[in-house]
Amino acid sequence: MTAIVGLRYLGTSGLFAWITARVRPGLYTGMNRQIRGEIGWSLASSAIYGIPAGVVAWGWQAHGWTLIYEDPLARPLWWMPVSLFLYLFLHDTWFYWTHRWMHRPRVFRLMHAVHHASRPPTAWAAMSFHPLEAVTGAVVVPALVFVVPIHVGVLGLVLTIMTVMGIANHMGWEMFPRRLVHSRLGNWLITASHHHRHHELYRCNYGLYFRFWDHLCGTDRGVSAP
Ligand SMILES: [Zn+2]
Ligand SMILES: [Zn+2]
Repeated sequence: MTAIVGLRYLGTSGLFAWITARVRPGLYTGMNRQIRGEIGWSLASSAIYGIPAGVVAWGWQAHGWTLIYEDPLARPLWWMPVSLFLYLFLHDTWFYWTHRWMHRPRVFRLMHAVHHASRPPTAWAAMSFHPLEAVTGAVVVPALVFVVPIHVGVLGLVLTIMTVMGIANHMGWEMFPRRLVHSRLGNWLITASHHHRHHELYRCNYGLYFRFWDHLCGTDRGVSAP
C-alpha cells in the first residue's frame, strides 16, 4: 500500500507539474532545491499513509472489517452522494482543527514548519509533511470507514478528490474559472486561490475542502491570485 501511495503521488504530482510547465512556463524555475525537499518529505509521508490504509484494506478483504460495501444496492442510492459529502466534511473538520492547533508556535516548529518551508509551494508539495503531521492526516479516512458506511466506488472518488485537490491547491496557479472561484458557491469551496493565501499569511484560511469552519470561526481572509 505504501508503494501504491508513493507511485500515486509521483504520477499525479508529476502530471500536474508537467501541466504547470505548459500552462505557466517558468513558474518553478530556480526551485529545484525546494522541489527535491518536497519530493523527499512526500515520499516519507507516502510510507506513513500506506500503513493504516494497508491494515484497513487487509482487514476489509480478509475479515470483513469496516463498513465498506460493494453492492451498490446494499443501501439506498441517495446514500452515495450523502456519504461522499460526509467524508469530505468530516475530513475537512478534522483537518481544520488539527491545522489550527499546528499553528500554535511550539507545535508549528515541531510538526508543521516542514510544510510551510515551501515558499511558494509547488505541485510536488501535496504530501510535503513532517512525519508527525503525516500521521494526523493518514488516520482520517481509515478511521472513517469503521464509522460511516461507504460504497467502494465512492471511497475511490473521495481518495481521488483528496489527491487532486491536495496537488491543485499547492501548484501555484488556479485551474478553476474565475467565475466559479468568485461565485457564491466559490465562497464555500477551497481551491488554490484560498490555500495560496494560507501559505502567504499563515494564520488564516486553515480549511481543506470547504470554507465553512473558516467563515464560522472568523479565520477566512478571502482569496489571493496565485
Ligand atoms: Zn498547504
Ligand atoms: Zn499551515
